[in-house]
Amino acid sequence: MRLYNTLSRQLEELPPPPGPIRMYFCGPTVYARAHVGNAIPFVLPMWLRTWLRSRGYDVTFVHNITDINDKIYDAAPGKSAELAARATEWYLQDTRDLGLGMPDLQPKASDAIPQIVAFIERLIERDFAYAVDGDVYFRVARDPEYGRLSRQKVDQMVEEEPNALKEAPQDFALWKATKPGEDTSWDSPWGRGRPGWHIECSAMAEEAFGPVFEIHGGGLDLVFPHHENELAQSRALGHEFARIWTHNGMLRFTGEKMSKSLGNVTTIREALDEYGRETLLLFFMTGHWRKPLDFSETTMAQAAAQVERLRNVFRAPSEPVGDWVAFEAALEDDFNTPEALAVIHGWRDHDLLRRGLAIFGLESLADSVEAPAHIVSLAEQRQTAREAGDFAGADRLRDEIAAAGWEVRDIDEPPGFRLVPK
Ligand SMILES: [Zn+2]
Repeated sequence: MRLYNTLSRQLEELPPPPGPIRMYFCGPTVYARAHVGNAIPFVLPMWLRTWLRSRGYDVTFVHNITDINDKIYDAAPGKSAELAARATEWYLQDTRDLGLGMPDLQPKASDAIPQIVAFIERLIERDFAYAVDGDVYFRVARDPEYGRLSRQKVDQMVEEEPNALKEAPQDFALWKATKPGEDTSWDSPWGRGRPGWHIECSAMAEEAFGPVFEIHGGGLDLVFPHHENELAQSRALGHEFARIWTHNGMLRFTGEKMSKSLGNVTTIREALDEYGRETLLLFFMTGHWRKPLDFSETTMAQAAAQVERLRNVFRAPSEPVGDWVAFEAALEDDFNTPEALAVIHGWRDHDLLRRGLAIFGLESLADSVEAPAHIVSLAEQRQTAREAGDFAGADRLRDEIAAAGWEVRDIDEPPGFRLVPK
């Protein structure tokens, strides 16, 4: 099994089963309902976990919740903790409704303050960090390899947290003294304050896994500064930290205008309500995880059509057509889901297809829904009307069936009908 590693810029082989494979994917900052693009660093590791477990690996997936952040203070002045708690529940509910199960561990930054403070103290002891006026900064000049992940030169980096008291513009905050308008704070050796964003992941990954783990993921937008800084912090303590860094491409809203109800910012919740779990998951399969993915009414309609095609395979008799080896090869080579999807579209073997779809949480497509008896009876009456040439009567019955949530499809050979839930 090979995955592309941002750090080495090449495909790298995972250790043989059972591993272990310890995965940490950065989770959301909780201040609003999560954007549908934020589902990718949840869906991808959940699929990976299922796939790797099916291959005999021992997999643990940790997905943090950033519940201390400027965005939360800005979104709910004076009530940031309440908003963070509510938005955490939204995220848990929305991701649970994707039907893929849940991560093994979802630590919150606010529950990890002692570990974060201890981590910062160790950085100060080793001269990698310094306190100034209640803040603590990471001393970038102390790390000659800083920029190794994002491949940037230190002197060309954009300053993230301007502060005249810093030794150098690139130095980033590990601990921030409480400012006016911030309604949550914790005690520390440097006074009341709260952790910076990057340190939380170094501390929580170490808490979960110790000094080394196999896969660290997140959106491409996290390479710099977030992951560059996580790596610097952990390497400063002599930790190897993550062996493979996986960065997923971003979701783009493209092309034609989205429907009015969706607008240009679609949340996971809205996407679930509008398209359903299965279409949304299939849509995520259509792009390679490293590439940008275009979210539009057209691409979602295409995904819905693919869902229907797969469902139709289960409505037809099973035939011994399908090649698991080709499917496996696609996933083993950098987890190529569009390739795997192309392979399973050729399958007609119900058991094989169900097994393949189960990797992506789509085995539900196999559950052909039977229409209730009164709908079947209406469809039979319509069939009789059609055969008698009473097309107006047949149309009325079709409308009645449609109003009950079913679509009646005519079959020519042999003459008959099929009922499909709308
Ligand atoms: Zn992180």
